[in-house]
Amino acid sequence: MLTIYSDTHRLQHGKAELIDGTLKPCFENPSRADMVLQEVRSRDLGPVIEPVAHGLAPVLRVHDAGYVEFLQTAWQRWTAMGRDYDALPKMWQIRRLRAAIPQHVEGQLCYYSMDCGTPLTAGTWPAITAAADVALTAVDQLAAGQRGVFALTRPPGHHAARDYCGGYCFFNNAAIAAQSLLDRGAKRVAVLDVDYHHGNGTQDIFYQRDDVLFLSIHGDPATEYPFFLGFADEHGEGAGLGYNYNFPLPAASSVALWFAALDTALGEIRRYAPDALVVSLGVDTFEGDPISRFSLASTDFLRLGEQIGGLGLPTAFCMEGGYAVEPIGLNAVNVLEGFSMRQ
Ligand SMILES: [Zn+2]
Repeated sequence: MLTIYSDTHRLQHGKAELIDGTLKPCFENPSRADMVLQEVRSRDLGPVIEPVAHGLAPVLRVHDAGYVEFLQTAWQRWTAMGRDYDALPKMWQIRRLRAAIPQHVEGQLCYYSMDCGTPLTAGTWPAITAAADVALTAVDQLAAGQRGVFALTRPPGHHAARDYCGGYCFFNNAAIAAQSLLDRGAKRVAVLDVDYHHGNGTQDIFYQRDDVLFLSIHGDPATEYPFFLGFADEHGEGAGLGYNYNFPLPAASSVALWFAALDTALGEIRRYAPDALVVSLGVDTFEGDPISRFSLASTDFLRLGEQIGGLGLPTAFCMEGGYAVEPIGLNAVNVLEGFSMRQ
């Protein structure tokens, strides 16, 4: 399987995130992608190529122009005030506050953020535009006839909605890839999110549309991040009604329960009969993940890949979460190898 990768991801290296009430080193850091790339190479998964620059137009197909402009200018505006630490918001536009966009960069940071776990840094803009190009180049390769392509995207994307960042995510790489597939002629695309956390951003972007089927298997938001979206009764709105499926599972659910949910999700994908599939590939469902509470073993990721491969669809895998850094490569590449075995 072909892998698309850019070293530029290293430029996104937040100093700290708020965990358990204290600032701690970011779980989402450059070593994650480095470990995955190392495993891709050591197991000879296939060629690794650089992304091709696609510009901002495909990003603006799924993200709000004001939000994109904010991301592009925020660091310069933040540091112009004499600051040199990561930009993090300190309040949110919560119930009964006015929804007007503030003029000051600090207010805009609050307005365009879902949480304070997504540090905006000097290297955020080049890193997120490179990650979008990684996803878009994977779509180019599918259009050129590849059956499965691995977009080694970092930072991840599935928590980023149309107009806000969150959960380490700024641009929604999987949504950008899905939209690009449609813009290249696909009539229907499915996005399957297997990360431990609900793909709230992807759901937000496609919630009112029937040309993208979104399915997410994740820890129940009643107890798990992102808490405010990802419940089983969210089926879509308007034209999108019936094209959104959430499979929230209690934290500490068994592996058997997880695969039963996958089986149902794959059945819905077959029924939808899409032209292509995008997988939001988070491996924080792993039993050793430090911030998640499912218990998939490394061998279960091979089985996951095989079952996705059984759909027989052109598939772009976009890297999402996974915070047990040592085995992240083993787990991610197991999915890709399992997929390849079914082609
Ligand atoms: Zn996650």
